[in-house]
Amino acid sequence: MTYVYRFGGGVSDGGKGDKNLLGGKGANLAEMASIGLPVPPGFTISTAMCTRYYEDGEQFPQELRDEVADGIAHIEAVTEKRFGDPENPLLVSVRSGARVSMPGMMDTVLNLGLNDATVEGLAKKAGDERFAWDSYRRFIQMYADVVLELDHGAFEEALEIAKEDNGFTLDTEMTAEDWKALVTVYKGLVEEQWGKPFPQDVHDQLWGAVGAVFGSWQSERAKVYRRLNDIPADWGTAVNVQAMVFGNMGDTSATGVAFTRDPSKGDRAYYGEFLINAQGEDVVAGIRTPQYLTKAAREEANAKPASMEEAMPEVYAELAAVFDQLETHYRDMQDIEFTVEQAKLWMLQTRSGKRTAKAALKIAVDMANEGLITREEAIARVDPAALDQLLHPTLDPNAHRDVLTKGLPASPGAASGKVVFDADAAERAAAAGEAVILVRVETSPEDIHGMHAAKGILTARGGMTSHAAVVARGMGRPCVSGAGSLAIDNKAKLLRVGSREVREGDILTLDGSTGEVMVGAVATVQPELAGDFGTLMEWADQVRRLKVRANAETPLDCRTAREFGAEGVGLCRTEHMFFDSARITAVRQMILASDEAGRRAALAKLLPEQRADFTAIFEVMAGLPVTVRLLDPPLHEFLPQQEAEFAEVATAAGVDVDTLKRRANELHEFNPMLGHRGCRLGVTYPEIYEIQARAIFEAALDVAEKSGEAPIPEVMIPLVATRRELELMKAVVDKAAQAVFAERGKTVEYLVGTMIELPRAALKAGEIAEVGEFFSFGTNDLTQTTLGVSRDDAARFLSAYVEKGIYAKDPFVSLDVEGVGELVSLAAERGRDTRPGIKLGICGEHGGDPASIAFCEQVGLDYVSASPYRVPIARLAAAQAALKAR
Ligand code: PEP
Ligand code: MG
Repeated sequence: MTYVYRFGGGVSDGGKGDKNLLGGKGANLAEMASIGLPVPPGFTISTAMCTRYYEDGEQFPQELRDEVADGIAHIEAVTEKRFGDPENPLLVSVRSGARVSMPGMMDTVLNLGLNDATVEGLAKKAGDERFAWDSYRRFIQMYADVVLELDHGAFEEALEIAKEDNGFTLDTEMTAEDWKALVTVYKGLVEEQWGKPFPQDVHDQLWGAVGAVFGSWQSERAKVYRRLNDIPADWGTAVNVQAMVFGNMGDTSATGVAFTRDPSKGDRAYYGEFLINAQGEDVVAGIRTPQYLTKAAREEANAKPASMEEAMPEVYAELAAVFDQLETHYRDMQDIEFTVEQAKLWMLQTRSGKRTAKAALKIAVDMANEGLITREEAIARVDPAALDQLLHPTLDPNAHRDVLTKGLPASPGAASGKVVFDADAAERAAAAGEAVILVRVETSPEDIHGMHAAKGILTARGGMTSHAAVVARGMGRPCVSGAGSLAIDNKAKLLRVGSREVREGDILTLDGSTGEVMVGAVATVQPELAGDFGTLMEWADQVRRLKVRANAETPLDCRTAREFGAEGVGLCRTEHMFFDSARITAVRQMILASDEAGRRAALAKLLPEQRADFTAIFEVMAGLPVTVRLLDPPLHEFLPQQEAEFAEVATAAGVDVDTLKRRANELHEFNPMLGHRGCRLGVTYPEIYEIQARAIFEAALDVAEKSGEAPIPEVMIPLVATRRELELMKAVVDKAAQAVFAERGKTVEYLVGTMIELPRAALKAGEIAEVGEFFSFGTNDLTQTTLGVSRDDAARFLSAYVEKGIYAKDPFVSLDVEGVGELVSLAAERGRDTRPGIKLGICGEHGGDPASIAFCEQVGLDYVSASPYRVPIARLAAAQAALKAR
C-alpha cells in the first residue's frame, strides 16, 4: 500500500482525479505540478493513512515512516537542501487537506525544520539574520498553537510586551536581536505550558505536525462541521508536506491570493490581493492592508500603493499566464494562493472559486460563449435557488444594517417602509404614495389588499407555507415570517423586540432572503433580467421537458409571470379575488344567506366582477392554458369581524344584524382546514361553483371574440377525495358551460380536472381519472394531510425536526419525496393507467423548489407551477433535471 504521493520537480504521483485519496489541496498540487506549473516540491500523505492511523490506535506504521523518508528525500533532491542540516536547511510547510475544504480543521504549520542550529544556517544562506529569527519565532508560535495546542494568547502577549519595551508599534520595527530575544521567551513559554522543551529534532517536529493534522480530524470543531455538512467521518484528511518558499525575503518577494475572475460580479478580470515581503498568513490575518493585483483595480479603487502589475511587472505577467492556463485546464474559475520568493513565482494552491449568484451566472454564460464549457455545463453550473437573489431588488451589501431581529426568509427581496399594523392602514398609506411594511401577528385572506399595498410583510407567527409566506411569494413581496421575538401591540400600534420599540410610522427594512429585520432604511440595488440572465434562460428552455406555469390570480401577477417566461397559469386561486373591498360585502351576503335564493341574489352581484377578473387574466394569457380553481377556503375566513361590517352586510341582504350574527356563529368550525372547504362547498352550495364556472366561460368567449385567440380554461375542483365528488362537480361545470355556449352560439375548448391534495385522492386516482381530465398535485395540502402536520402551525416545531434529522428539509418547502412523493408517483401511475396521457402538474409551493422539480421530472409530470418570481428558478431547475435524466 502506498501512503505517500510525491509532486514537484517533474514528478506527480497523483492528479486532480485523486481528491478522495489526496484531499482537494493535495490532488490539485499534484495536478498543477503535472501540467508544468511552478509548485514547490512536496508529498501528500493520503486520507487512507488517516483512516488506518485511527484503526491502529493512533500509531504510525513503519511503512509510513519509510515512505515519508523517501518523500523528504524527494524534496531534498529537488531543492538541493537537507532537512535538519545546520548549513543548508530544508524547511517545510505542513497542511491538512480533506476531500472538501473544511474550515475549522487544523490548518497550517509553516517554517517546520527550524531549530537553534538550522536558524543560523538559514540566516547565513539567506544573508538575512532578521528574516531567519523572525521565521523561527513564527514557527514556534504556530507550532505551539496548532500542534501543541498551547494558549496562544500568552505568545501574542509576549510579542506585545517586547514591542512595548522597545517603544515599537509595528512588527517590522523589530530587529534580529529583538526576534532572537523573543524566541527565548517563546521557548520558555512552551516549556512552562507543555512541560517539555520545544522539540529540536526536526523529525520529531514533523511527526508531531502530521499527528496533529490527523488528530484535528477528530476534533470537536471538525465533528460539528462534518455533522452540519453531511461529511462522513471515514473520509479522513490528507497531510501535505511541502518545501517552504518565502514571500518575506525582501522587496522582490511577496505573497497573495487571487481569483481568475471577479467572484462577486463575475467580470473577466484577475482579482486579488498581495503583500510585498510577507508570509501567507499576513494576507489572511489582515494585519497589513493588502495591495491590488492589477493596475485597473487599483485605479478604480483610487488606491495609492502600487499594484503587483506595476510593482513586479515580470512576475505578474507570469502569474497572469498561469491564471489562464489554470482556467483552461480546470474549465472553471479558480481561487489561487501564490508566493513570490526573490522574483521567482510559486503556486501553492488552486481550487474552484466560491462566487455570488450574479458571478456564477455571468461566469457560466461567458465561459460557454468563450467555448471553454458547453451550454449544458453552463446550465448545470448555476444554482437555481440562487437566482432568487437576482430577481428581486436586493439590499446593497455595502450598506449599514441595524438588525432588530430575524425570522424566516419567507419571500425573497428587500423592502423598506413605514410600519403599519393593519391592512386598511397599509392601503391608505400606499394610496397616499407611501412605502409601508405591513406588520401582523399572522395574516389571513382578508389582509390581501394590505399585503398588495405594502412593500413588504413581517409576521410574528407562521412558517414557510403560512398564508403570509405563500401570498407574499405569489405577489413577489418580500416577506419575513415567524419572527418569534416580535411582540406586537395592535392597540398601542407598536412592536417590541426585547427592550427595543418600533412605532407605527417608524421605518423598518426587511431582507426576505435572509429573514433579517432592520431598523431604518437600507439602500437597495435593482435586478437585471436581460443579458446573461436572459441568455441562460434561453439555453435552459432548449433542454427542459417540463413546462413551467405560474400560480397567479391578478393581471399584474400574470404579466410578471409571462415576463419571467411562464407558459400559462397552473393555479388561479379565485378566493383572493373575493376579498377585494368592492365585493367583500356581496361575498359575505352569499355566505351568510340562509337559503339558495339568498345565495343566488348575492352571486348575481359577484358574477360580473368574477367575469371581469377572468377576462383580464385570459387577455394576458391568451392562447395559453389557465387553470382556474373554484372556491376552496373555509367560508368563515370571509366572515365579518366588526360591527360596521355586520351592519353593511345586513343592509345589503335586507336582514337584521342579530340573525346575521347567529348565522356567523353557526359557521364556526373547530378544524377549518379539515372542515367545510374545497369541493365540499360546491357539494353543499353548487350554485357557487355554477356561477364561477359561468364567469369563466363567459370571459373565455369574450376574450376569444375580441382577440381571436381563445384561452384554454382548465377548471379545477379542489380537495377532492372521491370519484363521486368530482363527478357531481364536473356535472355542475359542464352544465354551466353548455348553458353559456347555447346562449352565445359559440364554444371554447376546456377541461375539468381536480387537485390531488388528499391521500385518498392519490390512492383512488385510478377511479378519479375516469372523470377528471387532468390532475394538479396540491402538495401543500397533500403534505399537510399525509404528514398530519398543520401547515399553519408547523413553524413552531418543524425546525427541531429538521435539526434532529427527522426530515432532511422542511417538507413544506422541499417535497418529502419518500412519503408524499410516493403518493404523487402512485397517483400519476394510476391516473395514467385509466386515462393514458392525462395531463399532470403540480401547483403546491414545491413547484418552485429545485429538488422537488427534479422529482417531478422523474415522475414524468407535464408541468410545474410556481409563483411568478420563481418561474425562472423552475425553468432552470427543470433544465437541470432534464439534463440529469439524459
Ligand atoms: C395546495 O394545497 O398545494 C395548493 C396549491 O392549494 P392551497 O395552497 O391554496 O391550499
Ligand atoms: Mg390546497
